[in-house]
Amino acid sequence: MDPAGVLPQAAERLDADASPQRRHPSEIHLDVSTLNVDSASMRQLAEANGHDPVRVGEAIAHIVAARGKLHNPVTGSGGMLLGRVAYVGQDARDTARRAGVAEGDRVATLVSLTLTPLSLRRIVAVHLDTHQVDVSGTAIVFASGMLARMPDDLPERLALGALDVAGAAPQVLRLAAAGQSVLILGAGGKSGLLAGSAARRRVGATGRVVGIEPHPAAAAAARRVGCFDAVVEADARDAVACLRALDAVVGGADFDLTVSCVNVDAAEMTAILATRPRGRVYFFSMATSFARAALGAEGVSRDVDMLVGNGYCEGHAEATLALLRDDAALRDELTRRFSA
Ligand code: NAP
Repeated sequence: MDPAGVLPQAAERLDADASPQRRHPSEIHLDVSTLNVDSASMRQLAEANGHDPVRVGEAIAHIVAARGKLHNPVTGSGGMLLGRVAYVGQDARDTARRAGVAEGDRVATLVSLTLTPLSLRRIVAVHLDTHQVDVSGTAIVFASGMLARMPDDLPERLALGALDVAGAAPQVLRLAAAGQSVLILGAGGKSGLLAGSAARRRVGATGRVVGIEPHPAAAAAARRVGCFDAVVEADARDAVACLRALDAVVGGADFDLTVSCVNVDAAEMTAILATRPRGRVYFFSMATSFARAALGAEGVSRDVDMLVGNGYCEGHAEATLALLRDDAALRDELTRRFSA
C-alpha cells in the first residue's frame, strides 16, 4: 500500500485484509495461532518494554496494526508463524502441492514476517524466553512464498523454532569441509546449536568446532549438546577479549569458517579477526551491519569472503528437521527449551 509499487519486504505498509471477499487466486490464507518472533527483534522489543510481556504484546499489536506485517522498524527483522491453511487460491496450488499441504493442515511459513500480510485480532500470550507469541489472526502467503507442513513426530513449538532458523545448518553443511575448523558466535542459541551440530557432522573427527557464548548457562547448554570441542565464555562484541580467550583455550584464532549466530549488534569484528586470510565468514545474524563488516575488514586488511545469511536454501526445512531427528542431544536440549 505504501510506497506504491514497492515489493512487500521493502514496503512500509501492506494490505492484510484476508476476509473471504478479498481472496485472490494467487494467495494462500492462514488462520494464525503463533508468531515465532525473530530473536534480534524480540530482544529489542523486550529491552524497549522493560521485559514486560504485556507491553511487548502491545508493541507487537501496534506494529502489525500500523504496517500490516510484523516488521520491526528498529531491527528490520520479522520471524515466521504457525497457522492452519484456510484457503488455497487456484494459482497458488503448486506452492501448496510442493509443500505437501492442503486446506486444514497445520503449517509454518518459511518466508519472513517482514513480507507476510498479517492481521491480529488478539494477542493471547507472550513467551519472552522462547520468542513465541500466541495470537489469533490471519495471514496471507503469496504463491511465490513457501510453507512447511508441521511434522507429526516433533513437538510443534520445537519444530517452529527450528524452522525459523532453517537457513543456518544446511548452509554450514555446504560451506564447511572435512578436517576444517569452524567458529560459531552465539553457540548456545537455536541457530548456534544447529550450526554447531551441522559443522561437527561436516568437519568430522579431524576438524575442530569451537563456540563463543557469553552467558555461563547458555555455554553449559552448548557443551551438553556435545558438538563443540570447546565453548569459550566471551562477549562477541569485544573482539580483543574474544581473540585472547580463543588463544588461551584453543591456542589461536585462524578459523576456516566463522558463523555469526548472535542476536546483538557489533559482533562483526570478532568474526572477521578470528577467520584466517581467505577464510569465510557467514553472517547469519540479523543484527549484522554491512557497513561495519565491509569497512571493518578493510580497516584491518583482512581478506575474507563474507556471506549474507540467506534465510533460504533448497531443502532447508527438511534438512533442519532431519538434523533434529538425527542428533538426540541437540533435540533434547531444544525440546527442554521449548517446553519450559
Ligand atoms: P537465539 O536462539 O536467541 O540465539 C542467540 C544467541 O546469541 C544466544 O545464545 C545469546 O545468548 C547469544 N548472544 C547474545 N549476546 C551475545 C554476545 N555478546 N556474544 C556472543 N553471543 C551472544 O537466536 P536465533 O534464533 O538462533 O537467531 C540468531 C540470529 O539469527 C539472530 O540475529 C536472528 O535475528 C538471526 N536470524 C537470521 C535469519 C536469516 O535468515 N539470516 C533467520 C532467522 C534468524 P543469551 O541468550 O545467553 O543472551
